[in-house]
Amino acid sequence: MDISTDIRYLKGVGEKFAKKLHKLGIYTIQDLLYHTPRYYLDRRNVRKIKELGTIQSNHVLIEGTVKEVHLIPTRSIKILKAIIQDETGFCIAQWFNQAYLKNVITPGTKIIIAGTIKEHHHLPPIIINAEEYEIIDNSDDKTSYHFYRLAPVYRLTKGISNKKMRALVSEALKSFSGDFPNLFKQAFIEEKNILDMECTFKAIHFPENEQIKDKALYTLKYIEAFEWMFSALIKKQRRKKEITKFKFEISPQLDERIRKLFPFTFTSFQDKVISDIKKDLTSSHPMNRLIQGDVGSGKTAVALYAMLVAVANKTQSAIMAPTEILAEQHFKTISSILGNSKVRYCLLTSSVQRKQKMQSIKAIENGEIDLIIGTHALIQEGVKFKNLGLIVIDEQHRFGVMQRAMLRQKANKPHCLVMTATPIPRTLWLTLFGDLDISVIAGSPPGRKAVKSFVRTPQSLPAIFNFIRKKISEGRQAFFVYPLIEPSDKLPIRSATKMYEYLKNQVFTDLNVALLHGEMPAYEKAQIMEDFRTNKIQILVSTIVIEVGIDIPNANIMVVENAERYGLAQLHQLRGRISRSPNESYFIMISKTKDPQAMKRLNTIAETNDGFKIAEEDLKLRGPGEIFGTQQSGLPNFKFLDLVKDKQIFISAYKSVVELIRDRNKFQQSVEENFLQEIRQKFSMKINLAEIG
Ligand code: ADP
Ligand code: MG
Repeated sequence: MDISTDIRYLKGVGEKFAKKLHKLGIYTIQDLLYHTPRYYLDRRNVRKIKELGTIQSNHVLIEGTVKEVHLIPTRSIKILKAIIQDETGFCIAQWFNQAYLKNVITPGTKIIIAGTIKEHHHLPPIIINAEEYEIIDNSDDKTSYHFYRLAPVYRLTKGISNKKMRALVSEALKSFSGDFPNLFKQAFIEEKNILDMECTFKAIHFPENEQIKDKALYTLKYIEAFEWMFSALIKKQRRKKEITKFKFEISPQLDERIRKLFPFTFTSFQDKVISDIKKDLTSSHPMNRLIQGDVGSGKTAVALYAMLVAVANKTQSAIMAPTEILAEQHFKTISSILGNSKVRYCLLTSSVQRKQKMQSIKAIENGEIDLIIGTHALIQEGVKFKNLGLIVIDEQHRFGVMQRAMLRQKANKPHCLVMTATPIPRTLWLTLFGDLDISVIAGSPPGRKAVKSFVRTPQSLPAIFNFIRKKISEGRQAFFVYPLIEPSDKLPIRSATKMYEYLKNQVFTDLNVALLHGEMPAYEKAQIMEDFRTNKIQILVSTIVIEVGIDIPNANIMVVENAERYGLAQLHQLRGRISRSPNESYFIMISKTKDPQAMKRLNTIAETNDGFKIAEEDLKLRGPGEIFGTQQSGLPNFKFLDLVKDKQIFISAYKSVVELIRDRNKFQQSVEENFLQEIRQKFSMKINLAEIG
């Protein structure tokens, strides 16, 4: 019997029962052991029947002798009532719809019963709704795995009881006694203050006390983090050994020529990232780097620097944006910077006209285009690149690992740069992007002022309108953002269409007010954006379509109605739209919510501009799964770990993994051969010792 043995062969299972276990995802002994309890019932205290009337807890455990048994049919169900007696008194235990128990629970048997007291503060005899019972025969020792202990309660399925589950787990543990396969060696186990595998499984299923149970859970979490980090770092190491034919050269002259194209000098934060990127691009290994920086911190400018390096090295480079508006914005920025340089570039989105698009696709394939700006249209089948050397992906988490991989497949070991404005806490990026190198742009270009943010109720709107009118007379522009396009009968929420009419016809009658929402045709959207950019429009009423990307330095007031409808990240992104200006900016959240969670979000935004703080808060409130989506982002579905709460475990596992991967001797002193086997299986990786140290 070993840990991967089919569950059928465990004593007490067999073909038929195995099928039931399959429903719980249990196919092997190992699966069974990893089917850990949902919680534990504290059955350490057997109560005297006399005490029952006075104790606090509803959950009780009693032991006694069955005196009488009655099966009582009612209109709908059958109730089995038994009188149980111990040396202090008697009570009644009852079971519903289990008439067959009449043959098991018979007068004279000794029994232990766990259950809940039906009604407290009642005159005796007390009635207990029985949940579990066990017949005690005189040969029994008191090491039962159901009673006199913290008893595990499992996730179950039809035809499997907790009792059966406990028996199976106990059987599995027994069959390994003494030679359970370990992942780590004793010295390492002691150093990390974890448990060996046998103790871990014994303690997680049948803990002697809370402390040992906690230690077992810690061990399982630690192992989970360790394995995940290990596989990610090995993958990263492998990638670093890959050779790409795109080994670029960056002479000081080229560096200067590129910098001159920009109408500003890079900040020291940007320069630091540029120097990371230069190192990557000039090595013979493909770059795989994530740039993280708040909205407007200058990521795109840095990416463009890298793209121009690629172009100067006679390869193509492509940037993929998550929305058309954003791709168009990049296109404009790039046009203004490339002006009359010789670089050939094009825009490729699904709303580019067909003829134009076919031309571009052909030119890309023939190598007549150097720099391509696009949306997911880039990864569609028809698009082939002549020699794609650098890929830039904007706003990473909207795409996820799949799209990244698809774009990468269009080239032969290209360099890859991913940009994200989501400030990802360190623990999370270690997990999510363990195979990426990270650069952070830690501050914004100079001259930006923090946005002033407020929470107000709708009563303040007239005053806000006056304020906006005054600012517009000084040459500023404003956004109004609504959660809905059209009014809804069901939701008492304001809509963009209706408020557009109102603001245009009743409030700002002398100004140009326009409406923008996601269901408008692309050309119309583009026209409105253009008119807003050139200040032909002073007030833009919109839905969240403006969330990503647009960059209009003169628009520095934003009013968000029904602000309680948005999450922290969304609000922060929205605010990012008006932070790109040397003028004073105002972010006004309107809400009359009483929901404390929503209030907390709004106040967080009002209180801080720090993207990292907001992200940490968001992570606490919503959890990583909801923020990144487990499937499309590649976020692992951990069984034991909680990415937010178990931050420390992560960091600690990460450190050990790094240490062990660097030093093969240490690795061999710490890790058992089983560990590599498990990694091979779990992560479908071929891996051997040669890759360590
Ligand atoms: P991100 O991609 O991080 O949102 P961008 O690169 O789009 O940021 O930059 C935001 C704005 O700041 C753009 O208008 C850009 O031209 C400007 N910008 C970028 N870097 C600098 C800099 N070093 N100095 C001044 N302005 C800059
Ligand atoms: Mg950007």
